[in-house]
Amino acid sequence: MANSHFHRCRLCPNQCEPVFDRVVVSYLIRGGTRIMWELLDTFTDPNPLVFQLQVGQSANQDADDWANVGGPIENAFYAIDPEKRVFGKTNWTYYRVLVTSSKGTYVSQPVAAIGTLDRRDWRNAREIIRKEKLRFRIGAGQDGYLLKRRVTGVRCTHCLDYQTQEVTDANCEYCYGTGFLCGYFYPMACTWADLSPKSRRIHIDGETRATVNDIVVQARMLLTDLMGEDDIWVNKRTDDRYYIHKIDHVSEIRGCPLIGNVEMRPIAYSSVVYDIKIPDQLAHLGQLPDAGIDFPDPAHTPDEGYSSYGPNFPEP
Ligand SMILES: [Zn+2]
Repeated sequence: MANSHFHRCRLCPNQCEPVFDRVVVSYLIRGGTRIMWELLDTFTDPNPLVFQLQVGQSANQDADDWANVGGPIENAFYAIDPEKRVFGKTNWTYYRVLVTSSKGTYVSQPVAAIGTLDRRDWRNAREIIRKEKLRFRIGAGQDGYLLKRRVTGVRCTHCLDYQTQEVTDANCEYCYGTGFLCGYFYPMACTWADLSPKSRRIHIDGETRATVNDIVVQARMLLTDLMGEDDIWVNKRTDDRYYIHKIDHVSEIRGCPLIGNVEMRPIAYSSVVYDIKIPDQLAHLGQLPDAGIDFPDPAHTPDEGYSSYGPNFPEP
C-alpha cells in the first residue's frame, strides 16, 4: 500500500495518455508569438481534429485562469498569439493546446515561453528532467504542492487600504495576504523538492524585531514548474509550508532553466496560509481507512448504529 502511494506520482493527474509529442513556443514579446505542436503517432483518433490554444500564468493544469486565445481551429499545426502578455522582468506566460476529436478532448502539457529548444536539445532537457524526477522519487526528494501566488485578478474587497490599495492584513482570510481574492491558484501536485538540512538560529534582534527565529532551507527543485518569489511550497506529508524566497539556476539548456537551488523560508504555523485546503491531501487522508486503519468518527452517535469507539465496535 505504502508502495503504491510512493509511486502515485509517476503519472500525475492530467499527464496520463499524452497525445502531444511536443509543443514549441517561439516567443515574440511585442506580440505575434507562434505556438507549434506535434501529435504522437500513437494518437489515432479520426479527423477532423479541432485545436484550441490557451494561455495561463502557471504550469498548473488545474489553474482556473486558462483562457482561450482566438477561436478553435481545425486540423492546424500552429497558432499565433497576437497579444503582448508580459511587462516587467518575469515572463510568466504559459501556453497549452487542447485537441478535440469525435472521441474526446485532450490537453497538452503547459509550455513556458522562456526559451525555445530544437528537437535535440529538447530531448536532452527531457532526459535531464526525467533523471532528476527519478532521483527525487527514489529517495532524495520530498513530494509536495506548489501554490502559485496570484498577481492579477479581482482585488480583495476586505483588507485593502481604500486609497493606496495596499494589503493591510497579512492574515486576511479572503486573499491570504496577496491582495487578490483567493490568493493562490489550485495546488499543483507532484512538485518535488530535495531539501538540504536546515540552518536555524534563535536570537534577539535588538534593533527592530525582538526575538527572532530565522530558519532558511535550501532545496533542489525542477524549474520547469517555474516557481516564483512568494509562491508557497507545501510538504505533502508534514504539511509544512514555505515561502519561496530566492532561486538560483543550477542547470540550464540554451537559456531554458531546468534545475535550481531554491531558498525557502518556513511560514509561521499561526499564518492564515495554513488554512488553504489542499484537496489532494484531504483525499489522501480519506483513503487511510481503506488501508486498514479505522478512525472513530465523533460525528456519529451510538443511535446511528455506531458506538463511541467507532463503527464495528459493540457498545460495552
Ligand atoms: Zn484581503
